[in-house]
Amino acid sequence: MPNQLFFTPGPSQLYHTVPYHLKQAISDHIGSISHRSTKFQEIYGAMKLALTQVLELPDNYHILTVASATEVWERILQNLVISQSHHLVNGSFSQRFFDFTQQYQLDSTCQKVGFGADFDLTQIPENSELISITYNETSIGYSFTSEQLQAVRKNHPEAIIALDVVSVSPAVKIDFSQIDTAYLSVQKCFGLPAGLGIWIVNDRCLEKAIAKKALGHIIGSYHALPELLEQSAKNQTPETPNVLSIYLLKHVAEAMLERGLAQIHNETKYKATLLYQLFENHNRLTPFIPSKPNRSQTVCVANVAGGNEELIKNLKQKGLIIGSGYGPYKSQHIRIANFPAHSKESVEMLVDLISTY
Ligand SMILES: *Cc1c(COP(=O)(O)O)cnc(C)c1O
Repeated sequence: MPNQLFFTPGPSQLYHTVPYHLKQAISDHIGSISHRSTKFQEIYGAMKLALTQVLELPDNYHILTVASATEVWERILQNLVISQSHHLVNGSFSQRFFDFTQQYQLDSTCQKVGFGADFDLTQIPENSELISITYNETSIGYSFTSEQLQAVRKNHPEAIIALDVVSVSPAVKIDFSQIDTAYLSVQKCFGLPAGLGIWIVNDRCLEKAIAKKALGHIIGSYHALPELLEQSAKNQTPETPNVLSIYLLKHVAEAMLERGLAQIHNETKYKATLLYQLFENHNRLTPFIPSKPNRSQTVCVANVAGGNEELIKNLKQKGLIIGSGYGPYKSQHIRIANFPAHSKESVEMLVDLISTY
């Protein structure tokens, strides 16, 4: 295979230390150790600690491991919603979570705005049990802002706020004290192979799950929230988990801490600035999201006049793989991931190549 760099919005480029951790995993017998062993418990505990630090989680937030972010959508509905949730929908991922509520026959509501448009946050129903926000809508490159998040928290102190941080954490700092539950998959900003989801919950979530169960509702079985929490407190999991992925996450989170969070956040901003300057100045490109504060720093999306096919092909021949548009925008948009795995040099090279196209 020729050398390739993946700027696709997930799976994406692997974090640069991953090949080393993979080799180390073989010599550490990670594929053979018992998930009930002390060795596994140490890895799990260290993963939780590193992740707590990388995400800058406040006290009393718990880290749980599941299969994917998609799984978390279902677990949230099973454990944290009795009859109704409200969803801010502006793209394919936020839409899919809402679709799950319909399959569960909940009385959930959604505020659906045109892809790329802004939400009217005053329209969130007063007594929503749970409010679902997708911080970074990967399909169109729309990002929530910390001010918007604060506004929702302030106006809905009683609701459980669920935040999708799949394609943003830990590249951008997020104030998790404003929300009650959040989730991500490791193949986006952590630069890991897919196959592990992280679910973060505070104590209000546990109380809600227990209350729902006490009312006679089913909240699930092996991945019901109380069961997940009980196991995680012992640094274990209900099932035989993806031990390799948990091991890799521990090591990558530690490597990121060593690099420094401020550096990661600053580089994300710098690279995003380069990409949006390119979109603004290139005669065939326009940034898709009109509102500047809502342009995603981690998934930069541009409309390509005349379609994206030729540009994507042209870059691919040079070993640079970028994302096409999502869903209805498949042939119109380019989506460029700007994750911690993407070095400044690689983004500068990509920008140079596109600007001469
Ligand atoms: C990728 C993605 C998901 C789904 O992740 P899976 O690992 O496929 O479950 C959910 N939300 C957002 C915003 C995403 O980018």
